Amino acid sequence: MDFDVIVIGAGPAGLCVSSALAARGFKVGIVERLPLAAIAEPAFDGREIALTHRSVRILRDAGVWEHIPAAQVSELRRAAVLNGSSPYRLRFDPTPGSEAVLGHLVANHLIRHAAYRRATESPAVTILSDRTVLSLHADARDAVVKTADGEAWRCRLVIAADSRHSQARRAAGIAADMVDFGKTMLVCRMRHQAPHDHTALEWFQDAFTIALLPLNADESSVVITETSGEAARLQSLDEPAFELDVRQRLGDRLGAMTLTSTRHLYPLVATYSRRFVGPRLALVGDAAVGMHPVTAHGFNLALQSQEALLQELTREGSRSLDEGVDARLRRYEARHRRASLPLYLATNAIVRLYTDRRPIAGIFRQAALRLGNHLRPLNASIVGLLSESGAGRR
Ligand SMILES: Cc1cc2nc3c(=O)[nH]c(=O)nc-3n(C[C@H](O)[C@H](O)[C@H](O)COP(=O)(O)OP(=O)(O)OC[C@H]3O[C@@H](n4cnc5c(N)ncnc54)[C@H](O)[C@@H]3O)c2cc1C
Repeated sequence: MDFDVIVIGAGPAGLCVSSALAARGFKVGIVERLPLAAIAEPAFDGREIALTHRSVRILRDAGVWEHIPAAQVSELRRAAVLNGSSPYRLRFDPTPGSEAVLGHLVANHLIRHAAYRRATESPAVTILSDRTVLSLHADARDAVVKTADGEAWRCRLVIAADSRHSQARRAAGIAADMVDFGKTMLVCRMRHQAPHDHTALEWFQDAFTIALLPLNADESSVVITETSGEAARLQSLDEPAFELDVRQRLGDRLGAMTLTSTRHLYPLVATYSRRFVGPRLALVGDAAVGMHPVTAHGFNLALQSQEALLQELTREGSRSLDEGVDARLRRYEARHRRASLPLYLATNAIVRLYTDRRPIAGIFRQAALRLGNHLRPLNASIVGLLSESGAGRR
């Protein structure tokens, strides 16, 4: 047997689950198609990940958080949603008596880098880079992972963390539901004249959506959702033209805008796997649930899935990946489905409502913002869900 567990994909989900498995005494091999340098020193990719309190706690417990420079963590104190030209805003503030902030923002490449450092601290983790997984096979004895270079690796359990377009999921014959929103997100960092007050803003306008995520030192992550053609045009504009375009889209609310990073495009496709487990197989991260980013929950759900999977695998002190493993995987699947399906469906419904240009949808949108403000229990439960303050605390 080469490993107890083979994790496919050294993205943030794969690296984090590998460290957590190693900490529980499992020998782990991570198979990743990228070269080692790209895993060890990932480049800035435009994504700023809004982490819930529960996610920060999981990263801290896993020894990943300490590898993220404190100066690179920004506080998300409040959030607001605007609809069209109306000045009315739906506000989300921390619930009185809970944490003082809604969450924390960390760049995706820094999470990846920290997770890589943590994983490589453990002698129980081996990274097999430059290897693309082609097929999986499992039987009563073990599982075999075959890679494009002709190698085969044996283990007791395979964990697929190889993105929302998971090749491992396909190789295992598991179908996934897919929603193509027909739009593309452009993301980048910009500095601005006016302060953001650590408030995230989501502004649904008629032809596009623009979001601002507050970073440190009067810098924000700017997220523009547009048609693919328009997003590509924005990416190719020279810097002064791009800065002016964004300033106008924001109605000048932050004054002059200065581009401070590269610009990145993400086509918006959400996926939901029909099964999260198979024989000697578990899906985690985007391979299980690939969320639309608007509710900022993809990686947060990945950490939740990791926690649920590990709790089930090591339930009652068990370390066997043979005896009773099918039942434990099924319990993991049920738990993760309960945790993810309502959020996945609600997120897709919000996106549809706020991008539907029919007049009736406009009335519902405006009503939804007012309801969200006036129904305090509803507002508080949305804040609780999105920030996970207190959730899963031990
Ligand atoms: C613009 C944007 C903003 C976001 N904001 C947030 C946010 O605020 N909060 C939040 O929680 N989430 C957010 N997300 C979602 C978050 O980025 C993802 O959920 C997270 O990165 C998923 O990690 P992963 O490891 O599952 O997958 P990935 O990051 O996709 O990593 C998969 C890895 O598998 C490797 N791989 C793929 N196929 C193979 C193969 N066949 N063989 C070997 N290796 C393979 C890939 O090279 C890659 O390294 C955002 C996403 C986007 C696009």
